[in-house]
Amino acid sequence: MSETILVTGGAGYIGSHACKALAESGYTPVTYDNFVTGWHDAVQFGPLEEGDLRDPDRLAAVLTRHQPVAVMHFAALSDVGAASRDPGLYWDNNVIGSLRLVEAMAAAGVENLVFSSTCATYGDQDGVMLDESCAQYPMNAYGASKRAVEDLIRNFAAAPGVVLNHVFFRYFNVAGADPDARVGEFHRPETHLIPLALDAVRGRRDKLTIFGQDYPTPDGTCVRDYVHVSDLIAAHILGLEHLLNGGASDVFNLGTGRGFSVREVVETVARVTGEPVPAVDGPRREGDCAALVSGSVKAAEKLGWKADHSTLEQMIATAWAWHQRPGYER
Ligand code: UDP
Repeated sequence: MSETILVTGGAGYIGSHACKALAESGYTPVTYDNFVTGWHDAVQFGPLEEGDLRDPDRLAAVLTRHQPVAVMHFAALSDVGAASRDPGLYWDNNVIGSLRLVEAMAAAGVENLVFSSTCATYGDQDGVMLDESCAQYPMNAYGASKRAVEDLIRNFAAAPGVVLNHVFFRYFNVAGADPDARVGEFHRPETHLIPLALDAVRGRRDKLTIFGQDYPTPDGTCVRDYVHVSDLIAAHILGLEHLLNGGASDVFNLGTGRGFSVREVVETVARVTGEPVPAVDGPRREGDCAALVSGSVKAAEKLGWKADHSTLEQMIATAWAWHQRPGYER
């Protein structure tokens, strides 16, 4: 019988890619999702349990029914702008939800956890290439909520009588879509750069606004390190198997080490799609860091991870194929 993995947020962008990869690797992914930002048609690769992380009875029942050997925890709100406007929502959903999950895992004796963290926990560090030993100074409530969850998982793991082996992945900017276009990125409202640029190309929105032109970066726009969702999920399978094989708890950046400015992304979208991107300059977005680029090869060295699909062109091309898929528009 295949081993079961509980995937919180399995109906979302990254979680649905995780379920596909888990099923392809011989696991049974059980999606746990409250459908606030998830989509029913993204759940294709294993059973669905609808529920909210902040519902302890529901969580306990699901863990008892499915007896997972591990949890992959993706479920979270992740819009930096919204987090700055409504921090309480982020602390409630992301932190309290994760607390309930970890409590339920401890009560049910589920000992392995792969947690979706973020480079936003580092904050702006004056152009430093970020590695896992950097201090964390989140600049917004999204990053702060993720750092708090890292702390709470570590606290539980250190408590007497609790076994909570964990891997944290601090994602840089996740982009692209499943090369088979069975799942992809779809948020409503959409806030992320590449899908917004593709929407502008397709005429689904009038224009893209470039947030801020006076950052201390080569062209004045923000610099980010983009990583393909398929590569990101490949790391999660490696991290899961590291834990299932008795490996120690650890933390890994997932980025390529190469930064691209907003303008470079917009130019590459135009090149890959063959269409101009209608774009205008606008003010800075609250909570944005100037640059976030990974300076770590730890996941490659310790987990054998390779980011094979993460050129900007590959990420935009797979996202573009997904955007043009019949039925994309839900
Ligand atoms: N961005 C932009 N216009 C948009 C959306 C995003 O200029 O309509 C910029 C944003 O300021 C950031 C980069 O694109 O510098 C990536 O933003 P995104 O929201 O995709 O990811 P984040 O870095 O916030 O996780």
